[in-house]
Amino acid sequence: GPNGVMKFALLGELLSWPGKIRAGIGAFLGHAPPPEGKEENIREWITRTLGEEVFLRCVDPFVSGVYAGNPETLSMISALPKINRIERISYSLDWNKFGAIFYGGLARQVELTKERKADPPEPEWVEFEYGNPGSFRKGLSTLPNAISEALGQPVGGPEKDSSKIRLSWKVTKVEKDGDIYVATFDTPNGEQRVRTKSVVCTAPAHALRGVFSSVLPQTSVLFDKVRKDINRVGIYHPPVAAVTVAYPKKSFKDVDLPNGFGNLQDLPGFGSLNPRTEGVRTLGTLWSSSLFPGRAPPDYNLLLNYIGGSRDPEIANLSEEEIITEVDKGCRQVLLKPDAPPPKVIGLKLWPTAIPQYEMGHTEILAELEEAEKTAPGLWICGNYRTGVAFPDCVTYGYEHAKIVQSYLESNKVAESRVAA
Ligand SMILES: Cc1cc2nc3c(=O)[nH]c(=O)nc-3n(C[C@H](O)[C@H](O)[C@H](O)COP(=O)(O)OP(=O)(O)OC[C@H]3O[C@@H](n4cnc5c(N)ncnc54)[C@H](O)[C@@H]3O)c2cc1C
Repeated sequence: GPNGVMKFALLGELLSWPGKIRAGIGAFLGHAPPPEGKEENIREWITRTLGEEVFLRCVDPFVSGVYAGNPETLSMISALPKINRIERISYSLDWNKFGAIFYGGLARQVELTKERKADPPEPEWVEFEYGNPGSFRKGLSTLPNAISEALGQPVGGPEKDSSKIRLSWKVTKVEKDGDIYVATFDTPNGEQRVRTKSVVCTAPAHALRGVFSSVLPQTSVLFDKVRKDINRVGIYHPPVAAVTVAYPKKSFKDVDLPNGFGNLQDLPGFGSLNPRTEGVRTLGTLWSSSLFPGRAPPDYNLLLNYIGGSRDPEIANLSEEEIITEVDKGCRQVLLKPDAPPPKVIGLKLWPTAIPQYEMGHTEILAELEEAEKTAPGLWICGNYRTGVAFPDCVTYGYEHAKIVQSYLESNKVAESRVAA
């Protein structure tokens, strides 16, 4: 949690002494209040509460890791709502007049522990620690594959007409015919129409141009809204490349990490994030072979690198060879000995429109969308620009939203049977 990060920053060697003192003042004594009536970006919020150095050394790399974003355009309240709330909790403590953040963090931790106790994990789930990274043994596709199978379409098998899944169907238009929605799709077998009582759309914001122009034209805020102050039109999805490479363990620097975790050759941790001030182009590297068993032979380390993002959109214009060269250079700057062999490249995927950015003005965009949605019962425009970008947030939102749709359909059934009677 945030207090864990604070402890790491205050006790470790991440910050200089002046940086530690400034962070300590913000954490334990207080800081300037938030500006009235003005949305803050992440850089402004962190600098005001904990100081410039915490921003540069701790938060800037974290923002690169989660959003591949620019902390000067990302909105604090939209992009990091849970941390932003800690300030409000801090000020809500009567005796904490100057909003010292530590006490808000502590109060939130107590609240969180209570929430988790009240809603414990199901007994059949595998053991896990909250906040730790996780995956499935055979990778994240396990989840969509299981959903597909449950809906009658085993993955890899021939497409079944009886299944409730359709692949490679691209929605182009949603219209209304009386109370019924009519969705038009481009499909491998030509144009197809589906008539339905409700629609939940989870396609990315950038794919929705024109789709809802007749039933919910206000959806255009997602791709048309101009925000001059940050020079954006619509929600920005910058490009990010994910590059998986492997090097022999013995080609890693033979140094013990100062935090006492162990030798770098064993990659004792979950990964590294690169502050932009360090001059490393790669945003961050997941130490995949340390995180997940069975991902590399015992004498190799497997690294998943992310490169690109809001502050480096040029990545989309590089060839695959050029991207690999940049990633290899970053690995050498941070982890490898100078004579390390070239990488074994296991995978490279450029996501041209990767992660939606929750930038300044995002709250207003979502408020406009939510207001408009009220005029179209049975239609929901969701997606990771609304649910939070973290995979668990997307899944949780989907799970909870399914209940809303179910209750809408059930209440409609009651209404229909009344009309019939
Ligand atoms: C490179 C990268 C690394 C990430 N790493 C992490 C991580 O380590 N941890 C984490 O928690 N999160 C991570 N995320 C974020 C997380 O993966 C996403 O936010 C999440 O998977 C989004 O889920 P979604 O269902 O909203 O969107 P998506 O999974 O993007 O699904 C949208 C679907 O809509 C489809 N679609 C597009 N247009 C149309 C159309 N016109 N009609 C019909 N369908 C359409 C697309 O084909 C796609 O299948 C990462 C994201 C990226 C890009």
